[in-house]
Amino acid sequence: MLLRLPTSVSEARAHLAEGAVPVGGATLVWGVWQRDGFPELAVSLRHVPEANVLERDALGGAVLLHRVDDRVPEVLHRAAGSVGTGAVRRTATVGGNIVGSTLRCLLPAALVLDARATVLDQDGTYETDLPEVIAKRHLLLALRWREPVASGYHKAPADAGGSPPLVVAAAAHAEEGGGHRLRVAVRDDHEVVTGSAARPAGTDHGQVLRNLEETDLGALPPTARQVLRREVTDLLSRLP
Ligand SMILES: Cc1cc2nc3c(=O)[nH]c(=O)nc-3n(C[C@H](O)[C@H](O)[C@H](O)COP(=O)(O)OP(=O)(O)OC[C@H]3O[C@@H](n4cnc5c(N)ncnc54)[C@H](O)[C@@H]3O)c2cc1C
Repeated sequence: MLLRLPTSVSEARAHLAEGAVPVGGATLVWGVWQRDGFPELAVSLRHVPEANVLERDALGGAVLLHRVDDRVPEVLHRAAGSVGTGAVRRTATVGGNIVGSTLRCLLPAALVLDARATVLDQDGTYETDLPEVIAKRHLLLALRWREPVASGYHKAPADAGGSPPLVVAAAAHAEEGGGHRLRVAVRDDHEVVTGSAARPAGTDHGQVLRNLEETDLGALPPTARQVLRREVTDLLSRLP
């Protein structure tokens, strides 16, 4: 296997055109390749500047999970810190987690930030939303979002060998004219359910929770809804 290490987006694009398979930290693909055979060509974005941004409103697809710190919103920082073991986080990448893994602990965090994705294909780069990135397994260059006023992330302790632990991510963005927009994403088993509600200035917490219950989040099992209510109440209490 030949590993291409482009230093620009145009070089990366050329390698995709020659059929190179994207690789992040290889924490997942290595085992698959050992079992099924290695591809002739692979491409890593680790030297592409656009895939290595780490800012308060942007995160590159090649950033290693252990580098995701408090420059990004709390919800994303805590999501990255919750993945696997220290050894996994030192090797695995944001793109490998969101696009390439099945657990995708970063996905609920990115969804509540209403993040947009910049992806790369043989024709060049373009912006799209996360559901499309996942459905089409696009090569993720970076995520960008509008900075939230506050955010939070809860991941239940994992049962060894059991189903994926419950994740509740929430973020509040300031809205024009005052008030906030609350977004919540819950990973229940392998499914991620989202919902959002406005919180006009002066609205009581109970009303916001009732509005969230009227979205798809209201169909979640009682335990998940109980954690959601706790996390949202905590988030609301931190808003100005
Ligand atoms: C012991 C262990 C525990 C784990 N625990 C968790 C957990 O708690 N929560 C969780 O969410 N995950 C967990 N994982 C999964 C972990 O997040 C993934 O291994 C990791 O995110 C994959 O990243 P990688 O960079 O190594 O991807 P790779 O193994 O290199 O690639 C995996 C797939 O992603 C694709 N890919 C890589 N980079 C990109 C990109 N930029 N854009 C699009 N596709 C890309 C590759 O083509 C490949 O198909 C765990 C893994 C291990 C081994």
